[in-house]
Amino acid sequence: MNFIDFAKFYSDESTCKTLFKRYRDKVGVICKKCGHKEHYWISTIEQYQCKKCSFRTTLRSGTVMEASKLPYQYWVYAIFFMTMTKKGMSALEMQRQLGHKRYQPIWEMMHKLRVSMGNRDSQYKLDGMIELDDAFFKTYNEEPQEKNKRGRGSSGQSKVIVMSKIEPKVGRPKKHRKSSKFRYVKMIVIPNSSSNSINSVVSDNIDDTATIKSDGWRGFSKIRNVVDKHISKVVLPHEASKALPWVHTMISNAKRTLLGINHNTKDFYLQNYLNEYCYKVNRRLFGNNLFERLMTAAVEDAWYGKLVYDNG
Ligand SMILES: [Zn+2]
Repeated sequence: MNFIDFAKFYSDESTCKTLFKRYRDKVGVICKKCGHKEHYWISTIEQYQCKKCSFRTTLRSGTVMEASKLPYQYWVYAIFFMTMTKKGMSALEMQRQLGHKRYQPIWEMMHKLRVSMGNRDSQYKLDGMIELDDAFFKTYNEEPQEKNKRGRGSSGQSKVIVMSKIEPKVGRPKKHRKSSKFRYVKMIVIPNSSSNSINSVVSDNIDDTATIKSDGWRGFSKIRNVVDKHISKVVLPHEASKALPWVHTMISNAKRTLLGINHNTKDFYLQNYLNEYCYKVNRRLFGNNLFERLMTAAVEDAWYGKLVYDNG
């Protein structure tokens, strides 16, 4: 669906609310009190009522929209813009397009959607052949300074583990072409470079039957403890992109995409931006279905309680 058709169809708040409810009905509502899954819909008050314990759930409760006062139309349009634009959109641009007065709620809405994207991808583990490397992303952090002084942002770097599932190409490799096909990518911010943090990212995101290819950096030396096979090769820095071609392509594309959305990323939010990047790359063949996928992820009951997000 292009934007003209989309805007024609979802032209008002009530159509968008109906759309939201349709997705919620499809995904199903889980009673927060007793865990029961069957509900009546009470249209006069626009709430679900549990068939077992009569506990009531609002349309927004338990979804990405819980606690949000923004109209349904904003959410539906934000999901459209975030999934249907190739390079994504900055919060400032989104604010302009939606015509909202304040920046903060729009910025929050987009981050919540990025959390939804991350939750979705965290349900899958990579298997088969994996390229793995670490990368540094430019970020800043705000440490509170002395009392009565405003916090000053100090620039720095955040360390990220990048994992790409690849598949060997059939037939003879062509010159200047990669010898493998890219399938999926995951990017996870790590708090430090210890092999413990790296192994915990690996076991959360990679199936233990996988084969991991990496360079010979010492942080990777214990990966063998969490997967079946680890191929580690010492490579010179200028040859790194040859040895692990797909992770390096992904790292430079992600950096470029992030710069397009946001010139200065606070370290705390880096994971959310990476979620968006990976979510879209992993679903690059979905076309228009990407909108539906994110709508579904956004109304999932599993959403609440998983917030990687604060108001900073
Ligand atoms: Zn109940």
